[in-house]
Amino acid sequence: MLKDKADAPERPLGPSTRPATRLVNAGRRAEWTGAVVNPPVWRASTHLYANTAALAEGVRGNADGRFFYGRRGAPTQWALADALTSLENGAAGTVLYPSGVAAIAGVLLTLLRPGDVLLMTDNAYDPSRSMGRGLLADFGVETRFFDPLDLDAYQAAFCERTRAVMLEAPGSLTMEVCDVPALARIAREHGAVSVLDNTWAGPTGFDALGHGVDVTVMALTKHVGGHSDVMMGSASAGPELYKRLRLRAQNLGHVVSPDDAALALRGLRTLSLRLDQETRSALTIAQWLADQPQVARVLCPMLPGSPGHALWQRDFTGGCGLFSFVLRGGDAARRNRLIDALALFGIGYSWGGFESLAVPLDPAPLRSVMAWPMRDGEPEDRFGVRLSIGLEDSGDLIADLAQAFAAMDRD
Ligand SMILES: *Cc1c(COP(=O)(O)O)cnc(C)c1O
Repeated sequence: MLKDKADAPERPLGPSTRPATRLVNAGRRAEWTGAVVNPPVWRASTHLYANTAALAEGVRGNADGRFFYGRRGAPTQWALADALTSLENGAAGTVLYPSGVAAIAGVLLTLLRPGDVLLMTDNAYDPSRSMGRGLLADFGVETRFFDPLDLDAYQAAFCERTRAVMLEAPGSLTMEVCDVPALARIAREHGAVSVLDNTWAGPTGFDALGHGVDVTVMALTKHVGGHSDVMMGSASAGPELYKRLRLRAQNLGHVVSPDDAALALRGLRTLSLRLDQETRSALTIAQWLADQPQVARVLCPMLPGSPGHALWQRDFTGGCGLFSFVLRGGDAARRNRLIDALALFGIGYSWGGFESLAVPLDPAPLRSVMAWPMRDGEPEDRFGVRLSIGLEDSGDLIADLAQAFAAMDRD
């Protein structure tokens, strides 16, 4: 006789399962999926109660995975949050946000109070930098930028009022890999909470909490969604911080749609396949670019000689398709001709989708303390291209880049 899967006892994932296995099984609790494979899309604002006593009980609970009201989600969102938590070693829970930027704002507005100082890595995602100078400044929080490659200057930057540190590895645009375990340890020694934007590697590529980070943040918009059709963010942390993040997200009214949560769950199942393929292609393409006479530098953590490559090898278990390269000669118009000549690369923001993208790179206005062009670079080598390598054949992508280099030099 057929038995509903919902009636079967829960089979917990063994702690020893590897990421690929966890990605398949994560979040698929029978109480949420019923007899089917994926949790259905529960579209719900109102949750109904049997009677007023049950209603009163619901208000008191405020626990994960309990029906209450749409702002606290329903099984589709719970399944995604649960899946992400099970991928983060040491996390007690995950809060979902309507975008990656909302996740960063939600975390920083949980940790910081007027009068506090936030130390932010100088190569942070540009909207994170803007948040420090805009939103947080308006609420009386001071943001100070630091060079994540200079541990002495970082140590010296702490003061009585430093409450949190915002890290990102590799850095946005210029892709430097910093010593996350050392930076997180120093933050802890100074009584500050460390937050890592781990969008690039994700939980399968970098074990953030295991390396001493307190809160790990991801733009699920990128690789977890993976298909350029959903915006979402997440933050995962240990028990005490998770509780605070969750309450603040409820205060701020952060909630994600169940349809989007289902899309993110669908993306999650193939995350490691896509990341492995993209990483291989990106390295092949990065090696080819490094041999081109027009290219001054390739900034790709997986490529030997790239800034922080040794730390990537030491600390990371995966890469992805996002990296940059810098052209010789400092001519932005010439660089734009190269991008415009590409046929297989879309021109547009975001990354981590199945399709390749290219955008112009000019980090100079987005740095306060780090040198750009890089210290050992020629001063005129400042303009570049950021590529997000998708799932196309890498040979085809190289051929496209080759014809675009030829067009750049010809026109
Ligand atoms: C895209 C991105 C974000 C923001 O995500 P959104 O969903 O676009 O708001 C945050 N951090 C990094 C590193 C990103 O690339």
